[in-house]
Amino acid sequence: VTPGPIDSDAGVVRFAPNLPGWRDVAVRELLGARSGLPVALENDASAAALGEAVFGAGQPYRHLAHFTLGTGIGGGIVIDRRLYTGATGLAGEFGHMVVDPGGPPCGCGNYGCLEAFASGSAIERQARMLAGSRRSERLADLLATAEDFGADDVARAAEEGDRAAAELLERAGRYLGAGIAGVINALDPEAVTLSGGLLKLGARYLQPARDEVRRLAFSTPSILETTLGDDTGVLGAAAVAWERFAPITL
Ligand SMILES: [Zn+2]
Repeated sequence: VTPGPIDSDAGVVRFAPNLPGWRDVAVRELLGARSGLPVALENDASAAALGEAVFGAGQPYRHLAHFTLGTGIGGGIVIDRRLYTGATGLAGEFGHMVVDPGGPPCGCGNYGCLEAFASGSAIERQARMLAGSRRSERLADLLATAEDFGADDVARAAEEGDRAAAELLERAGRYLGAGIAGVINALDPEAVTLSGGLLKLGARYLQPARDEVRRLAFSTPSILETTLGDDTGVLGAAAVAWERFAPITL
C-alpha cells in the first residue's frame, strides 16, 4: 500500500504528495522481481477502507466510506463489500475535495482542499502561525521546546486551556465534518469509518466534525472509529491481496 495515487493497471506509484522523490515508481515490477510473488498495489486509504470492511468497524455494513486522518487525509470507498477505485484507480481522494477555492495551498498543487484545512499538516501549519504571531503563548512555548511539534501539541495546549489552540482544532473539525457530509451526500453509505493518528485529538476535533455532519448531511450513517488500531495498514493490505488473489464473497 502506498500513500498517494497509483496507476492500478501498470502497478506504478504515480506520486506520493508527502514522500519526496516518489514519482512513477514501478513497485509491482520491482517487488515482484525481488520476491517472486504476485504483488497487488493499492492506495493506503483505499486499502484501509477494505480492511475496515473485512476485519474492523465496517464489518456489519455493505456500503462504507472510510477516512484516514493523519499528516494528510485519505479516503476509501467500499460498495457492496468490494473496494471501489473508480475508472482510473483514483477514487476516494477525499482529502483533495476542494472545500474553499480561495483557501490555502495543498500539497497536491490545488488550493483549499479539505486536507489543507483539517489534516495533521494543516493543523501544524496553522499552529506555527499562531505561535509565530504570539497569538498563542502556550503554542509558542511548545514550538520552542517540543521535539516534534505537531497536532498533538495543539491538543495539549487546548487541554491546558489555550483558547487559540482549542479554536484551531474546532475549526479543523468543522471542515472535516463538511468533507464527511459531502461524501455522505455523494455516496449515501451505511457507515463512515475513521482511522489515523488524528483520532488521538479526541472530542475537540471530532465532536465539531460530528456536529457539522449532522447539520449538512442528508442521511445519518453511523460514524465509527477504527477497531484495528495501528494494524489498519497491514490488515488493509491483507484485505486487498485477499480480494485480488483469492476472491471470495466477503
Ligand atoms: Zn489537495
